[in-house]
Amino acid sequence: MNPERPCRTCTDFKTWAKLQKKTYDSEKIAQKYDEDGTAIASNRKRLDCPLDKDELGSATWSFLHTMAAYYPDKPTSQESIDMKTFFNVFSKFYPCAPCAEDLRQQLKKTPPQTESQKELSQWLCKIHNEVNKKLGKKLFDCKLVDQRWKDGWLDGSCD
Ligand code: FAD
Repeated sequence: MNPERPCRTCTDFKTWAKLQKKTYDSEKIAQKYDEDGTAIASNRKRLDCPLDKDELGSATWSFLHTMAAYYPDKPTSQESIDMKTFFNVFSKFYPCAPCAEDLRQQLKKTPPQTESQKELSQWLCKIHNEVNKKLGKKLFDCKLVDQRWKDGWLDGSCD
């Protein structure tokens, strides 16, 4: 990573836009970003831009929870080892450095539970809730994790 450049995947878009303006106070950027970055955040015209921290986070959680939802009920011992390895390697390369560092600490305290789909999904729900707690977000009710990521809501609203 270029140390001169702000890290887009480590910041939300608004902060990133501000940092950009500070770092490259070019005419082009001054025209593009208003004082506090709000206008561009709400008026961004394109959808195919590089991800910021929150977009990356949301897309990644979707992938991780869906992967956990479809993990076998009775994994082989090799599958169980592979899933542990996956999370350990993932935590080394997740492209938001402070997020990845926190995740590595979490994995040391609470290693992946890979004995079954239920255990893995519940473990991941708790890991995600640790991040939610840190960010002051509402905690997710882990009893609902299969409805959210696999079966759809019981009221049929996803059918
Ligand atoms: P998200 O938290 O992205 O959640 C997406 C959806 O998942 C929610 O809409 C909800 O339906 C569902 N959900 C919420 N909680 C749970 C749960 N516990 N179990 C199952 N489903 C759930 N951001 C930081 O600012 N600092 C960090 O240190 C940081 N660390 C991260 C570490 C990882 C591994 C990842 C993947 C992301 C991290 N993020 C971090 C990003 C952050 O978690 C959010 O993704 C981001 O703030 C966007 O939040 P959101 O409101 O879109 O919902």
